[in-house]
This record gives sequence, structure tokens and C-alpha cells, in this order.
Amino acid sequence: MSEQTISILLVEDEENLHEALKLNLELEGYEVTSAMDGNQALKAVESEYFDLIILDVMLPGIDGIGVTESIRIQQNEVPILMLSARNASADRVLGLKKGADDYLTKPFNLEELLLRIQKLVNKNKKIQEKDSLGELYSFGRNTIDFKAQEAITKTGERIQLSKKEAMLLKLLIENKNEVVTREKILQTVWGYNVYPTTRTIDNFVLSFRKYFEEDSRNPEYFHSVRGVGYKYTE
Ligand code: CA
Repeated sequence: MSEQTISILLVEDEENLHEALKLNLELEGYEVTSAMDGNQALKAVESEYFDLIILDVMLPGIDGIGVTESIRIQQNEVPILMLSARNASADRVLGLKKGADDYLTKPFNLEELLLRIQKLVNKNKKIQEKDSLGELYSFGRNTIDFKAQEAITKTGERIQLSKKEAMLLKLLIENKNEVVTREKILQTVWGYNVYPTTRTIDNFVLSFRKYFEEDSRNPEYFHSVRGVGYKYTE
């Protein structure tokens, strides 16, 4: 996850408006990824992490409502700001019902759009910070130092963790006693990169067991949940 740059997925099929919005968002310092229709939007969401999605309702192919529904079904809680030319309140209600966070009717004031974006991004950040762990986390005879990306294992050995190892540990521990789905892991830990195979996550979890479990074949902390994901328990 990028900490400085806020990344926005802009889904809008009207070229002029798309270009104008992209330019203005970039001037505000946001990193903008473009999608011109619903399919492109869903593909982008599958392969990258975004801090916010600006989503037009009327799109060729899958419309904005369908895109929102699909994103939420995947347990992705990315903030969604919907745009629509239609002034129908039914649309607005349906969009919010399917999981959009906010709604603007075209034509809108640019200042207002920017303010709403800022508000949604800040709100999401606060939620993420509230959930996040401190720098040190201990369990059993192990201690993880997330900031230094190090761990002291059960044998007292100090090991260096890779960035992805630290991220995956953090994600699993933050969701203690809950299954974290594969999709969520890929989205959060691998983000911008090409998707690894399931094996890759398996190998990470095998390493965690080796480092941290008293008996790696009979894990107490790191569990695979077949066909779904992984779970940290304590
Ligand atoms: Ca449109």
C-alpha cells in the first residue's frame, strides 16, 4: 500500500470529462488510473490497490451500479464516489444501497468533488489507522517489529522479514481469529504487481510456521482455510 500518494481509479466513459477530471486530480497530487467502462474498472480493481474509486453510473457494458455490487461482493471496502448525469433519486438510492459511499449528480462543481474525495479518503485512512497495530507485536515466544521489518523467533534468533512478509503478517494479525480471503491478501499485499499464484501465499505461510510455530506441522497460530484463505489465531 502506498503511504504518500493517494491512488484513485477514475471510471468515466465521456472522454472530455474524463480528461478534465484526470488533469485536475493529478494537479491535486493524486495518482490516477483510468478506466473507460465497467469491465476495465473491475479488471483494474482486481489487480491494483486504490484508495478511492470515482465511478460514473452510466457506462457501456456493466454500469456503475453493477461495478459497485461486484466490488462489494469481493469484500472490497474501497470508498466509492458515484457520478451520474441522471437526476433520478432512484439511481442514487440504488447506488448507495449497493455500497457506494457518496454520490454526486452531474454537472457538479469541481471544488465540491475534490472536497468529497478528500473527506472519503481521510475517513478511510482513519479507519485503517484505528485498526492498525503498534510497532511491536508479541505472541508465544515470538516478537515482530513491523517498523524494522524484523522478528525475534521462538529460538531467540533475529530475522529480517521481507516487506511482503511483514505486510502479510500484519494483515493476518490485524484480523486475528478471522479468515482473510485470498483476494484480500492479494489486493492488500501484492497490490500493483502481477498476481502471484496461490502457492506463493502458501510458501509465505509455511515460512511463518517455520519461524514462529513451536511445531510447524501442528500450527497454533497460522492456519490455511481450504479454498478460502488464511487465518491467524491466538
Ligand atoms: Ca457515462
